[in-house]
Amino acid sequence: MNHVFHRNARASYPVAAKGDGVYILDSEGKRYLDASGGAAVSCLGHSETRVTDAIKRQLDEIPFAHTGFFSNDPMEALADHLIARAPGDLDRVYFVSGGSEAIEAALKMARQYFMEIGQPERHKIIARRQSYHGNTLGALAVGGNEWRREQFKPLLIDTSHVSPCFAYRDRRDDESEEAYGQRVADELDAAIREHGPETVAAFVCEPVVGATLGAVPAVPGYLKRIREICDEHGVLLIFDEVMCGMGRTGYLYACEEDGAAPDLLTIAKGLGAGYQPIGATLVSSKIFDAIHDGSGFFQHGHTYMGHPAACAGALAVQKVIEEDNLLENVRAMGAKLKAALEERFGNHHHVGDIRGRGLFLGVELVEDRASKKCFDPARKVHAKVKAKAMELGLMCYPMGGTIDGRVGDHVLLAPPFIIDENHIEEIVGKLGEAIDEAVR
Ligand code: PMP
Repeated sequence: MNHVFHRNARASYPVAAKGDGVYILDSEGKRYLDASGGAAVSCLGHSETRVTDAIKRQLDEIPFAHTGFFSNDPMEALADHLIARAPGDLDRVYFVSGGSEAIEAALKMARQYFMEIGQPERHKIIARRQSYHGNTLGALAVGGNEWRREQFKPLLIDTSHVSPCFAYRDRRDDESEEAYGQRVADELDAAIREHGPETVAAFVCEPVVGATLGAVPAVPGYLKRIREICDEHGVLLIFDEVMCGMGRTGYLYACEEDGAAPDLLTIAKGLGAGYQPIGATLVSSKIFDAIHDGSGFFQHGHTYMGHPAACAGALAVQKVIEEDNLLENVRAMGAKLKAALEERFGNHHHVGDIRGRGLFLGVELVEDRASKKCFDPARKVHAKVKAKAMELGLMCYPMGGTIDGRVGDHVLLAPPFIIDENHIEEIVGKLGEAIDEAVR
């Protein structure tokens, strides 16, 4: 048992042995309340038999059939389910195995679209600073997390980045939220004009920023203005809902709440809820038609796309969400969890901000609440929160701040959609203990 090499070569972890609702049990029988869904993945907890049964049934029928040769029923049914509920004119689904693959597909579709319609000079991608879109090279290139990009820079395609919409740190005191949203969205307009609109293919952003900022929603009006700017310049709009989508914010697609629909939309984590690896890129009819009527072939593909067992699992997940009215529970429990966090940390000297939507909440930790000064990254406050929380039997998702001080250490909470008030009490109690010890 000493040959696995994952991200942190020096770390050793407990062994996950069993799932029990919102809890994971390790091989010693210790229970961990999963308050982050891993990384916003496990939206149904860890023992939903309606999902595991559906996967087993599918494995007994046909476990795998390459999509270069066959279609399959769960893939078709899942695509119908997703499109029937999708915003705007999203009309087709391209299934892959995870979030990074979904982003790669979206970027290449955007590029191919412009080739198909006779605008080959459009190739540039604009994204935002302090963003994360995955770790494969294309996704890393559009991501704006300098720490993740630094050592791989020579391998990355050239992309440019505008400011994220991050009102806690960037809104001026004399500015309304709306005015701030318009100002920061207009950075995109300026960037497109500077590059020359005829060279820009797409803009990509997360409607609610997960990993890099810690559950930061756009202010009202921001995404609508982004949509207008993209339309004005003929630029495609990609929403990355890999983390915030699939019900996490209380809406199946997070952008519904913002009243803005993209041309391409990526989803992954909550789609399969961790029961199977799956992601997808939803595509507007405009893009599909251009490829269909043009070369007829999207020049891309992966071996496991549209995997029958993965699609059967994801379809079962989505049905459970509807049958059990879980989006309602996300909104109700989300409001309760936020209120409980505000009660516990609302006056905490080291908590600068509590934010988010639905069961997608962030707590930003600062050295000083009034000045919003971040902790020195060398203190590794986030790592201390994680270690103490795990010791207490709580999974949360703490992340370090940025070196330039634009974001402090923060903790992301994304518990399963099935949590109740007792779980909320346990989460806030244990998180409070972990934070108090980490900032001491
Ligand atoms: N986009 C966003 C917004 C994400 O949060 C993530 C994963 N944290 C990804 C893309 C990449 O997904 P994956 O890890 O499944 O490749």
